[in-house]
Amino acid sequence: MAAGFTRRQVLAQATIAAAVYTLDPHELCCGVNAYAQTAGAESFELKKVGDGIWAAVAAVRYKVNSNAAVIETNDGVVVVDSHSKPSAAQALYKEIQAVSKKPVKKIINTHFHWDHWQGNEVYAQANPSLEIIASEKMKEALLRPNSGVGGVPFIETQLKNLPGEIAKLKADIQSAPSAAAKAQLESNLQQAEAYQKELQNLKPAVPNRTVAQTMSMQEGGREIRLMLLGRGHTDGDLYIYMPKEKVVVTGDAVVDWMPFVNDGYPEEWARTVGELEKLDIDRIIPGHGEPAPKSHLTFFRGYLTDLVAAVKKAGADGMPLETMKTKIADDLAPKYEKGMSRYPVGQYRDRVPINIEQVYNKLVKK
Ligand SMILES: [Zn+2]
Ligand SMILES: [Zn+2]
Repeated sequence: MAAGFTRRQVLAQATIAAAVYTLDPHELCCGVNAYAQTAGAESFELKKVGDGIWAAVAAVRYKVNSNAAVIETNDGVVVVDSHSKPSAAQALYKEIQAVSKKPVKKIINTHFHWDHWQGNEVYAQANPSLEIIASEKMKEALLRPNSGVGGVPFIETQLKNLPGEIAKLKADIQSAPSAAAKAQLESNLQQAEAYQKELQNLKPAVPNRTVAQTMSMQEGGREIRLMLLGRGHTDGDLYIYMPKEKVVVTGDAVVDWMPFVNDGYPEEWARTVGELEKLDIDRIIPGHGEPAPKSHLTFFRGYLTDLVAAVKKAGADGMPLETMKTKIADDLAPKYEKGMSRYPVGQYRDRVPINIEQVYNKLVKK
């Protein structure tokens, strides 16, 4: 499924989304409307970004899937991130087998959020000697209760919330304002119910190898650098950098949507992206959205920097949070709204008030 959308599709979907979906703060990372055009199945589009390196760009689903990176080496395949559910990992695994018959030897998880690792078990079942690699901090967060929107204990929270979510979808279907909205909600409901079943049967495959600092792997003739550059989207973001091919895989530390700040460190995040910018990079595979050129880092860091500065200044001036949510959103819009609204999800206006509130809570209110 092509991940590109026409302007008309974007507008149509955005209208439906506005009509039928209210964001639940617990789902900001990743609970979004499915689209008619990608509602049928978990799917990925493999886009070549270097010799033997593909970005697996996720079609948008009600329960969002992260992108993955597929890296072929002389003797195997390395996959970065495994999505929100085994069925999605299975779908990508099939696509990988169409481009390489070599075994998947390693999975690397960029961070602990649920939409990046819950499919690990598919690869572990296919290869009992699979290495699952993550940062030490990621593994700690993965196993700790209340570490944010991810982690093994978070599955219980998801399972607790799903019946309410399903009941709400059923009620919304009854009061849907149009046939299109109704069809959309019915698809969401179907996906929510299928997801619930998958979660009930999930056998979490957690990292069995961790890294505490930047290191280099020589992997079947290819150098893959595992880099820890500082706190950002989470405490423990891992960047996967291939210096020869000048490709970096960032997880959600860099996305082509609006950033999700809930479990993040907004001030340090901008600095960390600045560290990433020092590398020689041609292509970025972000956690969500399309592969991007290096210039995207400057744009993304600029947003974080300007957002933090604006919220801190408004806080020092005594501006109430509710006023900030509209004033700062409008002030930053000329620079960022267009570039942060390229897809029907994760758009500027949907998320900027929440970004402002989270930065306010972390840096002003404390
Ligand atoms: Zn994500
Ligand atoms: Zn994330």
